[in-house]
Amino acid sequence: MKTNIRNPFLHRVSNGGRSADIPVRSNVRLEKPPANSGRAAIRKLLRTRMSALLPALLLVTARASGEGVVGGGGGPASQPKLDCIPQAQRDAIAAAIAANTAAPRGPNPPDAGPAPYPFQPIAGTVWQDRFINNFVDLDPSSGILDWDCTDFTYDGHQGHDLDLRHFGEQDVGVPIFAALDGTVIARHDGEFDRNNSLNPSAVANYVVLDHGAGHHSLYWHMRSNSVAVALNQVVTAGTQLGLAASSGYSDGPHLHFESQLNGVVYEPYAGNCQTSTPSRWVSQTPIRRDTYLGMFEMHGTNNVSPFLPENPPRKGTFVRTGTFQTISCWFTIYNLPANSTYRFRYKRPNGTVFYDPGTFNFNNATAYRKAQGWWNYTLNPDTSGTWTLDVGRVHQWHAHGHRAVPRPRHRQRADQPSA
Ligand SMILES: [Zn+2]
Repeated sequence: MKTNIRNPFLHRVSNGGRSADIPVRSNVRLEKPPANSGRAAIRKLLRTRMSALLPALLLVTARASGEGVVGGGGGPASQPKLDCIPQAQRDAIAAAIAANTAAPRGPNPPDAGPAPYPFQPIAGTVWQDRFINNFVDLDPSSGILDWDCTDFTYDGHQGHDLDLRHFGEQDVGVPIFAALDGTVIARHDGEFDRNNSLNPSAVANYVVLDHGAGHHSLYWHMRSNSVAVALNQVVTAGTQLGLAASSGYSDGPHLHFESQLNGVVYEPYAGNCQTSTPSRWVSQTPIRRDTYLGMFEMHGTNNVSPFLPENPPRKGTFVRTGTFQTISCWFTIYNLPANSTYRFRYKRPNGTVFYDPGTFNFNNATAYRKAQGWWNYTLNPDTSGTWTLDVGRVHQWHAHGHRAVPRPRHRQRADQPSA
């Protein structure tokens, strides 16, 4: 099966007077059942195309309908309660940095501040393949604040969390790179790397680099036995340090990338809520604020919840059986506004609607920065060919919920339900 969310199926979404096209599509193959005539019939595959728009989440009660409903679920991704690096492990790294007075110094002039980073230190395109779920929390109180005056962080977080989609990507291997030239002053490997719940005593696989002039960078949660550099090794920017995973205090695969100057964490991004230094990026990119789909996959099971961070099932070929079967989907969606609604619609190859249960609420009273969901319908397709599954989202933006207005500092974390 080949899923493809690159070909655009455009869906208009209201955005307070503006509108946005959301391009998403997933292709699915639908096979005819094998006929008695054998292989020739099996080969006679008909392409099925299911296109998907932004889908829905949260618990929804089953709705009786002729074609079959089943249900779905989802919600915001969980958030840690502590920093990615528990204090005991942080203390050990601080000691390693303090003991490193003899390490070679990098090119930074001592009074120019830390050298800017030329690229993100992980494979994939940020805001497409990699979602930055958390930046440094700049609010010293119990509130949260990112450099752009919003809530892309959690209380006490001290680095950047660059998320993988799921353990399937971890298994393929997502490289982590040295952000700048430097020297390895600490490394650790061999720890369990598939944590899906938060355990403060879990130890991470990691690398710490010294870039000179008091500038250090930390790379956390690496895959077991993936650390590719030795202690005291001199590396150049772009050297592969290891692979991303979920070792240590982590509930899903991601890179925690942290920057320190003279042992003090700093936020390399500059913005309205980080004005004390200029951007420490050669080319800083803004936070992506539009609503978009990180993943959309079809499957043939009636329950894949909870499916992240595990590697969920995928299915692209559905053989018509003449009876009802599960034809379903799961997805990750970013920047879902509060009080969104959704709609599913299955269409036949000729464009006629086969099944449309109508519009429903997401039941999300708050915006979700990162949400996940699955959906599950039992259907009996009445013809073979290229089908289309439209999954639409319709929403009026909340007055205070969008980019144009900085959010209040002490507000409910956007990715947590209000209950
Ligand atoms: Zn982190």
